Amino acid sequence: MILVFGKTGQVATTLASNGRVQALDRQAADLSDPHACAAAIASAAPKAIINAAAYTAVDKAEAEERLATIVNGDAPAAMAKAAANLGVPFVHISTDYVFDGSGRAPWGPDDATGPVGAYGRSKLAGEEAVRAVGGTHAILRTSWVFSGTGGNFAKTMLRLGLEREEIGVVDDQIGGPTYAPDIAAACLTIADALIKDPDKSGTYHFTGFDDVAWADFAAQIFKEAGLKCQVNRIGTEDYPTPAARPLNSRLDCSSTEAAFGIARPTWLSGLRSMLAEMRG
Ligand code: NDP
Repeated sequence: MILVFGKTGQVATTLASNGRVQALDRQAADLSDPHACAAAIASAAPKAIINAAAYTAVDKAEAEERLATIVNGDAPAAMAKAAANLGVPFVHISTDYVFDGSGRAPWGPDDATGPVGAYGRSKLAGEEAVRAVGGTHAILRTSWVFSGTGGNFAKTMLRLGLEREEIGVVDDQIGGPTYAPDIAAACLTIADALIKDPDKSGTYHFTGFDDVAWADFAAQIFKEAGLKCQVNRIGTEDYPTPAARPLNSRLDCSSTEAAFGIARPTWLSGLRSMLAEMRG
């Protein structure tokens, strides 16, 4: 059995539907109580652990950094320790927001981090704690997650595309939109690989192909959904938010393919699957 933290989130929902998984929702394990997370691992005695739960409210985190740091930093630290005590792998999902977004080159897993906001700092704290524990682990950074479940950019565009004839969308933030079920599948593949070969422990990147601006992603969403909403390209400065976002979120995923045979899936196929899923 593989123990998963999170049951209701975009990635967690897919994991929870897998027959090998036991998924823990907030009631079963609240990440604001790291000891409870460690206790849940000790009593479940799983073969591997995947953490798909997180404080993900990027803007709200600016005002709640303490809570975000407990959930995204202290809880994964406790999970990693409990996993190491059992001698089982810990797969922890992280984010492009640990980088400062400078330049245009894809970020490599070992590049210097430098989060520009509270959410990124809290996720970086989790990464550093998991590495410091030193057990068998994978930190899997992803970006721009979308699925038919929960709140995300793609679903917001589908809603606004029905209501409006045109919309301004940022075109100077570049990244790889990533379909949540693809992340779930990658986590399971990595967990199985680490069970067999703990030497593959490390930090990895996994995002949808190819890298695009939010404006390009929005235009394709409208096209695929048959919505006649025009995308007007705007700059980040024209769309102020409480938290700053990295401009360059390109992630180099080549070491993930080399270590685990997982290639970048196209986000277009994920988008089509999402639309099919939502049409029922
Ligand atoms: P969601 O925002 O869809 O879901 C978050 C999940 O975490 C929910 O199941 C939520 O439960 C749970 N959760 C939040 N706080 C707690 C808590 N205190 N105790 C227990 N559970 C809690 O997340 P995603 O699926 O989008 O994200 C998965 C991973 O990917 C996360 O690590 C995230 O940081 C990372 N990521 C996400 C990106 C994105 O665009 N969304 C981009 C890059 C990385 P509840 O329903 O009860 O609130």
